[in-house]
Amino acid sequence: MVYNTFYRHDDIQESYLQHLISSRHQLSQLTGFESFAHRAQRNSLLENYDTVRSFLWGVVEKCRGAFEKELAVLIDVSAQCSQQDNNNGNNEISTIAEHDLGFLMHLYRESAYDIAQVSQQSSPFFTFNSIWNGFSTLTQRLYGVRLIEEPLISGEMWNSSGVMKLQAVDEQNNELGVIYVDVSIRPEKAVGDCHYTVRCSKQLSDGTWQMPILVLSLGLVDGHSSQWRNSRVSFHSAETMFHELGHAMHSILGRTKYQHVAGTRCPQDFSEIPSNLMEYFFSDLGVMTDIIRRTDRPEEQLSIESAATLLASRHSFTAIETVQQAAYGLYDLEVHGPIAAPQIASGRMTTTELFHDIMNKTMPHIQRSPDSAFQHRFHHTVQYGAKYYSYLVARASACLIWQQRFLNDPFSRKWGDCWAEVQSHGGGHHPAVLLEKILGFRPTENDLTQALSKESQHLANLDAVTV
Ligand SMILES: [Zn+2]
Repeated sequence: MVYNTFYRHDDIQESYLQHLISSRHQLSQLTGFESFAHRAQRNSLLENYDTVRSFLWGVVEKCRGAFEKELAVLIDVSAQCSQQDNNNGNNEISTIAEHDLGFLMHLYRESAYDIAQVSQQSSPFFTFNSIWNGFSTLTQRLYGVRLIEEPLISGEMWNSSGVMKLQAVDEQNNELGVIYVDVSIRPEKAVGDCHYTVRCSKQLSDGTWQMPILVLSLGLVDGHSSQWRNSRVSFHSAETMFHELGHAMHSILGRTKYQHVAGTRCPQDFSEIPSNLMEYFFSDLGVMTDIIRRTDRPEEQLSIESAATLLASRHSFTAIETVQQAAYGLYDLEVHGPIAAPQIASGRMTTTELFHDIMNKTMPHIQRSPDSAFQHRFHHTVQYGAKYYSYLVARASACLIWQQRFLNDPFSRKWGDCWAEVQSHGGGHHPAVLLEKILGFRPTENDLTQALSKESQHLANLDAVTV
């Protein structure tokens, strides 16, 4: 009841969305495109609407086996719950309701992994200081670039505590750029972890490079505490720090002539690759135990068992997550597409009907209320407009780079230097050209789908548990 009330179709949201879709559709027609979804794909890796569509359906189809395996585990958990609720009832369950998905996954994780105990054992390793230091160790080995904390000058900072200034320097101690990391939680601060560019790198008229200045805004710690640097961060937040620092490094490594294409100023599908790749490094057992060290006792290593448990729990239900993301991507594409957009604009179809139809086709075993309208709270439709799927393309590309170049030798300087060179072009080349530099080939839509499906199959081997 709570879920369906929270996500209920809302007429006001619907009229805003209808207005947005209709305006975008008119704009695309005015500029000679069949739909906004066609227009949005210019300069992207997959290049056109039809390829994006087949990529997303490909992800759904190829992950279906792993998706059903994970679902079977959740159906088992659900059956055990109803058995406990109703000892003499019929416990034949073959479907799951959308509102139970998150709850059942949580129950599974609680029983399958001893998260509470592992979190306690590993928590001294996961502090704000240990994570950025671990990231610096990684970039030093990969690119020869270190992050060093710089003292702040009075008046330099917008907030007195919970903000750190990191200077990126190369092996000759040349300054490459500055990252301000704002981690304090304050009522007036914007919610949501992100990376802002204050100043881009570019070539100056005397041939030197303008030094980039970046801000990472994360809600991690209570900034009022004098010990905020050593505040514990959750496993998930540590992973997010690697992601956001991955964006920052993309900007730091930028060496484009013009600032408009420096670093993260590139097509959306490419801009999320460096950050996603850093998550692959973070998720590698060997890398994690090697670089994440206690700041007070750096000689101590996180135990392999603890790291493995944290990672296994984090990556359980990857197939469900992937298919869900593909479904959201399909909705965002089709709502701007040639068939649905004119119907929505003229009031012949609602976005709720379209969303329900896509969810039923992509996740047929999940029961949902036709009146449930997740898309009314999905702000990505505004910012990404027919390109929300870029996240999946970026993840698939990062997965290919990880598997091909780093899986067997994560600290390879040769491939680290190559990847740094690729990132230095920012948006100066087409994403396919850049990927070819690191992979040796231009990945097709099929290569990307394969990468995601291989990953989800590998991770979908969950054991049944008693909850
Ligand atoms: Zn990102």
